[in-house]
Amino acid sequence: MGEVIPVLVLDPNLTSRLRRSPRRAAYYCDAVRGLDAALRRRGARLILRRGNTSAILRGLARATGAASVVWSSSFDALGVRADRNLQASLEEAGIRATIVADAPAVPPEETAALRESGEGYRSFAAYFQAWRTFSPQRVTARVTFATPEIASEPLPVPAEFGSSIQSIEELDEGRVRARFERFLEAAVLQYGSARNVPSAGPTSRLAAPLSFGVVAARTVVGAVRERATDPFLLAEERAALELFERALAQRDFFLQLAYYYDSVGEPPLQEKMRRFSFAKTHPALDAWRAGRTGYPLVDAGIRELRATGWMHPRLRAVVASFLCFDLGVDWRIGRDEWERYLIEDEPALAAGNWQWIAGVGADLAAYPRIYNPVKQARRFDPTAAYIRRWIPELAGRPDYAILDPRASDLRRQTELALYGENGYPPPILDHDLAARAFLERYKREVATAGAS
Ligand SMILES: Cc1cc2nc3c(=O)[nH]c(=O)nc-3n(C[C@H](O)[C@H](O)[C@H](O)COP(=O)(O)OP(=O)(O)OC[C@H]3O[C@@H](n4cnc5c(N)ncnc54)[C@H](O)[C@@H]3O)c2cc1C
Repeated sequence: MGEVIPVLVLDPNLTSRLRRSPRRAAYYCDAVRGLDAALRRRGARLILRRGNTSAILRGLARATGAASVVWSSSFDALGVRADRNLQASLEEAGIRATIVADAPAVPPEETAALRESGEGYRSFAAYFQAWRTFSPQRVTARVTFATPEIASEPLPVPAEFGSSIQSIEELDEGRVRARFERFLEAAVLQYGSARNVPSAGPTSRLAAPLSFGVVAARTVVGAVRERATDPFLLAEERAALELFERALAQRDFFLQLAYYYDSVGEPPLQEKMRRFSFAKTHPALDAWRAGRTGYPLVDAGIRELRATGWMHPRLRAVVASFLCFDLGVDWRIGRDEWERYLIEDEPALAAGNWQWIAGVGADLAAYPRIYNPVKQARRFDPTAAYIRRWIPELAGRPDYAILDPRASDLRRQTELALYGENGYPPPILDHDLAARAFLERYKREVATAGAS
């Protein structure tokens, strides 16, 4: 490999994604600053440009005499198309254009090559079996940077994306890696409970660093496998590590799904669900958006997302299920709503997971899994610690009244202070009735149609 000139292009597509979430914009700017600082420590610097990627890269190649452009692949339908167009336009200009799959730990082509069809996997179980046989490649090549006399445009600042948040955190590569190493040393051993019970300990919080390439998935998977070689691990700790590795495989699974099945972004992946129409709205949709459904676990999840740009993984499933099945509202409305708050920018993971929960994607269960928000609260937040944290109006209530809002509804007469304008609302609907009605409709419109 010759000398490398590190270039970052802020194109209109990326700019519009950053404009959607103020925290995402701030995090991205932190990450770009961190990248530039890391390059400067190696005697190089980032050349930043804003505008049309193809025109900019062709211009830079001409100015520097670069013969080849290499970049990391996108995995959502829009990005994959943009990559292909960029590749064609660079090659037309006589520049070698190489797209590498840097986002996943295992590139999609490698797992797909094991299949006769050469295509991606639609079933996670089969994908996981194949994925486990690969060892993520270690990058051993030493890179030398060129420092051409070319000015960079100023690094981005959150205000240019309409965000008033100055910064989320200092994203020094060493700092992010050190945090992950601390997680791997101890907290990961409780991952089995932490991924379900929000008060049981931290999950890795790697979603944002992975999404912006602050750490590489292959580095993370390599470190997890290395950790698993510790002979002193208890059986439960080993099981927790396996679950964590499985979560990382899920990330690769959804990336390859979006790569090979570009419909994953919009129409349902499952043929049989393409004619099933979810509602575009619901009288209680705004209550769901605001975290005021009267189901405390659902509302706590939404409020955590709005306050921090992240929602605990268990809660994402419960809150999404409530939208799709209790309200019967289209999963895309939920995905787009979360886009306004999430820090991580992973369209393939957002679409894949939302489709999975809505029962229209890669999960091939015969019936949708409808989460009961009361049972989920009892099981995964039994002391209501998580709910109390995000719903201060409920902090002084006894556990039983928080965990089952229907029980507290019965006592409404004696606890009027709990409700009202500034208080916590009563449930907007009866979950059991709503879930039953959805299943009846599903049986009528999908299950019977599938059988005929
Ligand atoms: C409805 C719904 C929407 C979601 N939307 C997104 C999204 O927009 N962006 C996003 O990155 N994740 C999304 N997820 C997946 C998952 O919830 C988050 O990746 C996780 O909460 C991030 O927290 P963490 O980094 O602490 O994860 P950990 O539990 O510590 O897992 C480690 C890493 O594994 C990967 N991972 C874990 N679970 C999943 C999963 N179900 N699918 C794919 N990768 C996974 C992530 O990269 C994560 O950072 C969604 C899940 C659901 C149910």
